[in-house]
Amino acid sequence: MKLSVQGIVKRFGSVTALNGVDLTVEEGEFLTILGPSGSGKTTLLKSVAGFEVPDEGIVLLGDRDVTLAPARSRNVGMVFQNYALFPHMTVAGNLAFPLEMRGVGKAEIARRVKEVLALVELETFSERLPRQLSGGQQQRVALARAIIFNPSLLLLDEPFGALDRKLRETLQLEVRRLQRRLKLTTLFITHDQEEALIMSDRIAVMDQGRIQQLGTPGEIYDYPVTRFVANFIGESNLLDGTASGGMVSLPGFGNFPLIAPPGPVTLLLRPEALRIGADAEQTPCRAEATVLETVFLGLSVKFRLKTTDVPEMLARMPLRPSDPPPPAEGSRIGIGFRPEDIHVVPRG
Ligand code: ATP
Repeated sequence: MKLSVQGIVKRFGSVTALNGVDLTVEEGEFLTILGPSGSGKTTLLKSVAGFEVPDEGIVLLGDRDVTLAPARSRNVGMVFQNYALFPHMTVAGNLAFPLEMRGVGKAEIARRVKEVLALVELETFSERLPRQLSGGQQQRVALARAIIFNPSLLLLDEPFGALDRKLRETLQLEVRRLQRRLKLTTLFITHDQEEALIMSDRIAVMDQGRIQQLGTPGEIYDYPVTRFVANFIGESNLLDGTASGGMVSLPGFGNFPLIAPPGPVTLLLRPEALRIGADAEQTPCRAEATVLETVFLGLSVKFRLKTTDVPEMLARMPLRPSDPPPPAEGSRIGIGFRPEDIHVVPRG
């Protein structure tokens, strides 16, 4: 079911946790709220779930205004970071609980428990207690419990936060597969930009109680609309230049043609678009740089560089086994970029 949040404001004393949030999650969409700690993500999720009542604005589930409706009447499935399974109940007992609350008959409960256990690949675990399961297994049970009653909406609040990296990656893919298969409208919260880029149909980047930008992962990465978004998503070189008459002047790199509003401009150049050494020679905008640091990342190398005008820049280059060794720390190299790889940050 479609979720629509309109003009939500939520204050806690002098703190404005949500400062006018508008958001629509389309039916079957996986939308991620991404933001730093304290940006208002959990407060937004709680307003949707019915655990907080907003001071202003409305929450619509489908066509129904649920702003003031109690949480249990909203038919929303939730998964939190800390599993929140009932410790004294078996897996089957945990899964049956939301159905019992809804008055579903015994035979139907048994059928649904079996079905959902198969979906999360835990068929043989139904009689175990939560403490007899690994963290990843517990989180799969929590997910199964959140979807067993066919919720209109699935809310996920940092569900992989407590898991190690490898397990997190496995579960990210599993959840996404399941969500697609069941066409569940999903609102997901994370402060991990990589996780957001991997999983989402669209991402809403939040800061200080407002959505700074809403778009597909590609749009958010390639065309951030503010300095905050550019910095928060991926690694970036943010360069201060001056635009006039269809040209931009960038200290050290000279002048090059670029459409930008006249005056001071912030330019985004992703590390993978900054060429170094021989690769830089063919680029029209070049400068000399000193290598401050070289970091091997397996499939690529990252360089921290400085020029006379820019104290720190990042470059990233793919690494093939046959490549010559990368420039050493302290060496002087040519760097450069193509104007078409530059993005002008509109609200720099
Ligand atoms: P985190 O990633 O750390 O969980 P978040 O983005 O989810 O952060 P929220 O928990 O929504 O952020 O908090 C937003 C702001 O509202 C913070 O400044 C927080 O301190 C404040 N806040 C949240 N809940 C309450 C409350 N019950 N009472 C007072 N202030 C609150």
